[in-house]
Amino acid sequence: MSPLFPALTEASADPDGPGAHRPALRFGNRSLTYGELAGVAAPLAERLAGAGRIAVWATPTLETAVAVVAALLAGVPAVPLNPKSGESELGHIVSDSAPTLVLAGSGDQLPSALGGLGRVDVDVRATRTPRVPEDPSPETPALIVYTSGTTGPPKGAVIPRRAIAATLDALADAWQWTGDDILVHGLPLFHVHGLILGILGPLRRGGSVRHLGRFETAGVARELSEGATMLFGVPTMYHRIAQALPDEPALAKSLGKARLLVSGSAALPVHDHERIAAATGRRVIERYGMTETLMNTSVRADGEPRAGTVGVPLPGVELRLTEEDGVTAVEAYDGETVGEIQVRGPNLFTEYLNRPDATAAAFTEDGWFRTGDMAVREPDGYVRIVGRKATDLIKSGGYKIGAGEIENALLEYPGVREAAVTGEPDADLGERIVAWIVPDTETGSAQSPPSADELADHVARRLAPHKRPRVVRYLDALPRNDMGKIMKRALPHD
Ligand code: ATP
Ligand code: MG
Repeated sequence: MSPLFPALTEASADPDGPGAHRPALRFGNRSLTYGELAGVAAPLAERLAGAGRIAVWATPTLETAVAVVAALLAGVPAVPLNPKSGESELGHIVSDSAPTLVLAGSGDQLPSALGGLGRVDVDVRATRTPRVPEDPSPETPALIVYTSGTTGPPKGAVIPRRAIAATLDALADAWQWTGDDILVHGLPLFHVHGLILGILGPLRRGGSVRHLGRFETAGVARELSEGATMLFGVPTMYHRIAQALPDEPALAKSLGKARLLVSGSAALPVHDHERIAAATGRRVIERYGMTETLMNTSVRADGEPRAGTVGVPLPGVELRLTEEDGVTAVEAYDGETVGEIQVRGPNLFTEYLNRPDATAAAFTEDGWFRTGDMAVREPDGYVRIVGRKATDLIKSGGYKIGAGEIENALLEYPGVREAAVTGEPDADLGERIVAWIVPDTETGSAQSPPSADELADHVARRLAPHKRPRVVRYLDALPRNDMGKIMKRALPHD
């Protein structure tokens, strides 16, 4: 396998060459060129060689990026830890993944769950520039990333170098992503989106990343107006952008200049997509992936962005929809027939750590990975996700109804800030549709929240009568995890 980061290998071989002076990483006012990155990551990689697994205290900092690059150079599997996790979740991840060391910033206070581990403080000042080591083999486990825990306790996905290279190269093709691109990044660094796409992606292309530390719309506007070309975000960020646009003309102008605005990790509400398009002239493109599979589909940079869809399978990714038996392929491209998404390709993980049963259950006999996500295909092949099999597919009155389209319809209605739709048992219908609504207190200050009847009528008119919510419950906020994903299992009726 050629090097995972060709620009870094080149910079270390020719520390005085022009490539070594190109910017690689910037976090706030601290930055590293490719030459400097080689100078700090290679000595750390030497120190890590043979360490077994290592944990990385994944704050949104330069130290975390350097730690992960060093581990990759050393061929030592790295486990990024979410610094906001509670003690019990951290305890679970640490005992499950059994790291020998934890890498952290020198000022970081580590919780007692990590007390038993040796600690290495990451130093981001270059001392010398030894050669970066030869790349380990493609199947070497590179990262163990824990799933978001949206549907159950997080599982550790073992991700080989081959999958990282495959997914980043497929995205480069789909997004026309080159070394000239500069990414604005405001995501955490302990998941696939923020770490593999947001940090390793620019480094594999030989481009650069500017991390905001914390996401804020002013930072996005500043970086995009100062030469950044791409923004990666989760739907909650695009929602904040959509809310801020009317009051921040500089934001609209800067987004209008961006080459690519990409959303993923959860469905981008159609309403936010449309508001951003109207105010900036740019359409956000959506991609769909998972910890286990990295990226599966995307709207292409040269394709047509379409609200509510995640585009087409990426190069190298085989995708099929299957019927309830999990093996019969759905052949229809009619925008209506729902099936479970299954994928195959070089982007897939190897296994769930210490979970042979879960690993076996996740694959069909002929090697397709069962994503648990349900979708339809449009006539031109665009995939439209309707929701997760476990929580978003409601069987009501003989229909199979996806929660997503009802959520999108509710979010359009004035006075609705957040919406989630679930099913609950019903003697007549099998399941009845329940809408969870967070009323918009800011814009709707003068009005009372939309009534259950108004909302149900709107959905019936907008979609179909059988899709109307039978019950509407009002909340102050929806339960969300650190990626902003709605955790339906944590809604109060559970
Ligand atoms: P867990 O597996 O622990 O329950 P999780 O599935 O949320 O958590 P991740 O691997 O971080 O953990 O997320 C992958 C899931 O996120 C996908 O299976 C899909 O349901 C959802 N997802 C990702 N991108 C999109 C998208 N663009 N549109 C809709 N859903 C998406
Ligand atoms: Mg999952």
